[in-house]
Amino acid sequence: MSALANQHSAVNLGQGFPDEDGPEAIRQAAANALITESNQYPPMRGLADLRGALAAHAQRFYGLTYDPATEIVVTSGATEALTAAILAFAPKGSEVVLIDPSYDSYRPIAEASGATVRTIALAPPDWRLTEDALRRAITPNTAALVLNTPMNPIGRVFDAEELAAVARVLSETDAVAICDEVYEHLVFDGRQHLALAALPGMAARTLRIGSAGKMFSLTGWKVGWVMGAAPLIDVVAKAHQFLTFTTPPALQRGIAFALETQMDFTLGLNADLQARRDLLKAGLTQLGFQPLACEGTYFLTADIRALTNEPDSDFCLRLVREAGVAAIPLSAFMQGAKPDHFIRFAFCKKRAVIAEALERLEAYLKR
Ligand code: PMP
Repeated sequence: MSALANQHSAVNLGQGFPDEDGPEAIRQAAANALITESNQYPPMRGLADLRGALAAHAQRFYGLTYDPATEIVVTSGATEALTAAILAFAPKGSEVVLIDPSYDSYRPIAEASGATVRTIALAPPDWRLTEDALRRAITPNTAALVLNTPMNPIGRVFDAEELAAVARVLSETDAVAICDEVYEHLVFDGRQHLALAALPGMAARTLRIGSAGKMFSLTGWKVGWVMGAAPLIDVVAKAHQFLTFTTPPALQRGIAFALETQMDFTLGLNADLQARRDLLKAGLTQLGFQPLACEGTYFLTADIRALTNEPDSDFCLRLVREAGVAAIPLSAFMQGAKPDHFIRFAFCKKRAVIAEALERLEAYLKR
């Protein structure tokens, strides 16, 4: 969709990347490190300073204690962290449970690892995760559950009741929880992101994955991490060793600096993004879309049935080509029987860009 957006000079509300870079101080810290520090392979599990800063972050926000020496691995983006975790814990012949609609990289990674994928399909408009659905999908054969909260593409932030159900069901199995928490700080309307790892009994079986790209609006840096109990992290580190081995040291230095000094940026991003969500939501509503609730992330999902009978993918193709606005059909994030009347817009864009997209949609839909 991004390629089509370029081809048609469309406003790209498809792909979820901010169109403003994170703080210059962070980029300067990385630039300084690039010039004044070693550019050779850093330690395999990541710079000690960065691992220390990550442990302090987990303690500060979730009361979770991780030993930086043995319980944290820095990776080349959350994508690599996910890959290492899935390769480590969902080998050939095992079962992985995904929650649909799900971020598009989980399934191909699990399949490449040789695992069989089972899905829990959440139902619109509330997309709630229930204990019944968990029990139907998670069996004694389950090796791993991938839990993404705040959730891309639908902007759910799983609440205490839903996470308690996950904990109850998992505790009856040997499965590992692979928690993709890259949007941990992007939660709106006073909500709180809850970490499954902080629930009783869960720390020993949970891998928490994060991304500096999302935290500091530096998605191109691809600095991520995974943290968990030492016996789990030992296995993840082995996979990481043969995937990328390390992550550029200057970028790690920049993110260590960011975690130590720039969390105000991250915490402020929240209010700013919430306002942009509201701008997009109000504009879409006026045009006849029916936006669903968005509790977190960069993404707003809208029902298109009042505007068209087409499937979501056809409508998105028409919008990018004819209206000059790119969005993503939600069905791209689901398997099997799926609703095909929702599309996803990214609002991590400048206000002027969102306004321009709304103007183009209005001109097109009025025609
Ligand atoms: N998980 C989710 C849910 C995401 O939305 C993304 C980025 N779009 C990633 C993981 C990948 O993060 P990174 O860029 O750090 O690899």
